[in-house]
Amino acid sequence: MLSVAEYLDLVLDSVSELPPMEMPISDVNGCVLAQDIYARWPLPSFDNSSMDGYAVIASDLVNASEGSPIALPVIDDIPAGFKSVETLRSGQAIRIMTGAPTPAGADSVIPIESTDGGSEVVVIRASVVPGSCIRREGEDVKAGDLVLPQGTFIGPRQIALIAAVGHGVISVIPKPRVAVLATGSELVEPGTELKFGLISDSNSFLVTAIANDSGAAAYRLPPVQDDEETLIQILEDQVHRADLIITTGGVSMGAYDPVKSAFLKLGTAQFHKVAMQPGMPQGFGSIGQPAIPIITLPGNPVSAYISFETFIRPAIRKMRGLKQLQRPQHSATLIGELRSPINKVQFARARYITQGQVELVGTGQGSHVLGGLAQADALVVIPVGVDSIASGEQVEVIDVRGELS
Ligand code: AMP
Ligand code: MG
Repeated sequence: MLSVAEYLDLVLDSVSELPPMEMPISDVNGCVLAQDIYARWPLPSFDNSSMDGYAVIASDLVNASEGSPIALPVIDDIPAGFKSVETLRSGQAIRIMTGAPTPAGADSVIPIESTDGGSEVVVIRASVVPGSCIRREGEDVKAGDLVLPQGTFIGPRQIALIAAVGHGVISVIPKPRVAVLATGSELVEPGTELKFGLISDSNSFLVTAIANDSGAAAYRLPPVQDDEETLIQILEDQVHRADLIITTGGVSMGAYDPVKSAFLKLGTAQFHKVAMQPGMPQGFGSIGQPAIPIITLPGNPVSAYISFETFIRPAIRKMRGLKQLQRPQHSATLIGELRSPINKVQFARARYITQGQVELVGTGQGSHVLGGLAQADALVVIPVGVDSIASGEQVEVIDVRGELS
């Protein structure tokens, strides 16, 4: 039997960061940068107005006020995207919109709210400090600046910067393409009537959703019967489409479990017992040429979920080029008492009452208890060597509410 840490190391060693790809920036949200991003031009790239108003010379308006407004002829009009050929001289104004280049000769912009909005002549009711309402070229970013180094996680705010400094296609570590396949002759598509002895496939939906949440481009395949030949055919097909294959079911000690034999025929695989509850039977390996990694999860849905959180989320994050692979743990008070196998780590499903307090959910901790899993937003981690926890004790908790970025 391997410890959770030992098995996690084996799984992580079996996957690698994906090679970089050139991608349009519309598709890079959630990817890791595989290149440095330099500014092709300054930001702003020209002096421009931060307000709709009038470009003026501040010294013309020193005496302007509500009580004694000053009227100036308007000699031009500059919408955003255009520039004026005029040079502003003392005693003149040019109407200007937000984002338009400030004209030569102007040293400030007076907001439209301090004027009558005139188009031939403007009446101005306030003075202005020189430089006001002008966004200066390069005040944000200088041309040639390294704005984002390789290895940066790209979210929406980073994408905006990359676009602004002039890059439409960039090199990133792509999202791993993950094929999800549930195995078991008892499985039918949800929504169809169940004949006695059959169940709805829930694992493949769970695993596809959580794989997408953890930053993969995951897709679900229809469930496959416990039949080695069919399984081999489907897996061979996926080798050319996926960067990682995840299967559920068929890896325990059952007489009709075809996953082990199929994997061994297609490539290499290791099957282990891991000292955890739920989720003891685990397996991983690689199939195809070039070889792609494959990870098998136990069939019980709660086991599949816990195993995903424990092993596959870190593996996907490694493939994505991220450095932090695991969700953090924090301590909290457990409400409810719990027994735990002394030689295994137990991951008990719980729910936050407050950030510092969790309570157990569901009708026990069986690995089939999906009703309880759906109520859970925390996992209580009971380490090896502990066989019971009393209500009110401090425990280690994994917060599974949000996503790591
Ligand atoms: P196995 O790992 O194939 O021995 O399955 C263990 C338990 O999980 C059995 O009760 C299965 O019926 C159940 N199970 C297996 N696959 C799924 C699935 N895709 N969705 C829901 N339950 C499953
Ligand atoms: Mg089975």
